Amino acid sequence: MATVKIGIIGAGSAVFSLRLVSDLCKTPGLSGSTVTLMDIDQERLEAVLTLAQKYVEEVEADLKFEKTTNLDDAIIDADFVINTAMVGGHTYLEKVRKISEKYGYYRGIDAQEFNMVSDYYTISNFNQLKYFVEIARKIEKLSPKAWYLQAANPVFEGTTLVTRTVPIKAVGFCHGHHGVLGIIEKLGLDKDRVDWQVAGVNHGIWLNRFRYEGKDAYPLLDKWIEEKSKDWKPENPFDDQLSPVAIDMYRFYGVMPIGDTVRNSTWRYHRDLETKKKWYGEPWGGADSEIGWKWYQDTLGKVTEITKKVAKFIKENPKARLSDVMDNLGKDLPEKQFVLELERILDPERKSGEQHITFIDALLNDNKDRFVINIPNKGVIPGIDDDVVVEIPATVDKNGIHPEKIDPPLPQRVVKYYLRPRIMRMEMALEAFLTGDIRILKEFLYRDPRTKSDEQVEKVLEEILSLEGNEEMRKHYLKK
Ligand code: NAD
Repeated sequence: MATVKIGIIGAGSAVFSLRLVSDLCKTPGLSGSTVTLMDIDQERLEAVLTLAQKYVEEVEADLKFEKTTNLDDAIIDADFVINTAMVGGHTYLEKVRKISEKYGYYRGIDAQEFNMVSDYYTISNFNQLKYFVEIARKIEKLSPKAWYLQAANPVFEGTTLVTRTVPIKAVGFCHGHHGVLGIIEKLGLDKDRVDWQVAGVNHGIWLNRFRYEGKDAYPLLDKWIEEKSKDWKPENPFDDQLSPVAIDMYRFYGVMPIGDTVRNSTWRYHRDLETKKKWYGEPWGGADSEIGWKWYQDTLGKVTEITKKVAKFIKENPKARLSDVMDNLGKDLPEKQFVLELERILDPERKSGEQHITFIDALLNDNKDRFVINIPNKGVIPGIDDDVVVEIPATVDKNGIHPEKIDPPLPQRVVKYYLRPRIMRMEMALEAFLTGDIRILKEFLYRDPRTKSDEQVEKVLEEILSLEGNEEMRKHYLKK
């Protein structure tokens, strides 16, 4: 058993923080640990702390909490630092998207081939990348033995940047590989008899191995596609694992794209709303259309409001139990989702599906487990540089991280036509960030099919660099 200090940066992200806290409570080997919740938003922080404390009290777990708005406090003496902060928040993303659309860049300049996820900004997110490096440097200085767990996006660019520039232990996490479970469930398979593997880069992972009871399971998927895919309809904007676009990508690349990879396709599927609807289904056209993303933002906004409401209720009724809260909520969709999430968190048998706490338990208590994590390639995927962070399965125990051999290898089409172009854009984003050479940002856009003139590129960048909050970014790129 090990007691640790875990710092959560951006802890005001309520659902994420509560998932981690509930996982901690369900991990006996980490009993007695301290969680330092850090956020710049006092109100969100207070609400999350109230709920976390209430939860711990109800399940009679032994966990201590600290809350702070000071980054150093979350890092000093920490054994693990989890970063889920989004500098500038969704407001900044939307401002950039609005400017971009004014100049003809539908869904924003950061929406690019193989990177269409709407909060995965890689070229206009200077402040976010800078924060990753700042946190990593502070860890190096204040708690050099601590692990940095990257949850904030862009996980691919962020984890590669940190592992290349700061000598600390860093690993990136995403839950996108759960898409495999979606396929297993749709095909009606027993998940314990499925042998699967995924590999690629974050939001670009592929089901290279899919076997059921010792036999290739792809024919079962082919059968489902042939017989059932025509009746497919999404249940929500994120429900795309077996959408027409996923199937089309599978046909071209030879293996299934998994999780957010389905969102990260080419412009063929993203040109406009009608195109998105055709490939990602009606009525939303996927999570990254203007309709799908609004649905997500509305849901997030309401969840934040509900969190505050529930925290207030608990403060005013200290004897109330979290289960009482469910009866006090209304019946609109985000509230229902919040109740479902609370039910999941309260269920003593179920962990959240986030990997962070299980990873810590595996490392410290030798509770060996399998993960899908983001670490430097170092030869795991042939044809990709060693210092590019890849998303791969690995077992973790007290001796560290042991990547699996990728078997069978990824098809050449995936490596050459999907991963390499995506890696090239990561390299461009990081070189721009590290050198301040604005020509790289421009080059990004010259290659963009939505660009019709050099003037368009100049204007969109000028306006983004003039945004309040981007003063340092402007200085970095324009030297003035
Ligand atoms: P959000 O804006 O709702 O929450 C982020 C939190 O960060 C807020 O509470 C905000 O106050 C805080 N914050 C902002 N600047 C900060 C700073 N300088 N220091 C500390 N905290 C700060 O955003 P969200 O939708 O919860 O997303 C958070 C991040 O997680 C995003 O980058 C998102 O893309 C990412 N994400 C990752 C995964 C994954 O599996 N890896 C899944 C979903 C979202």
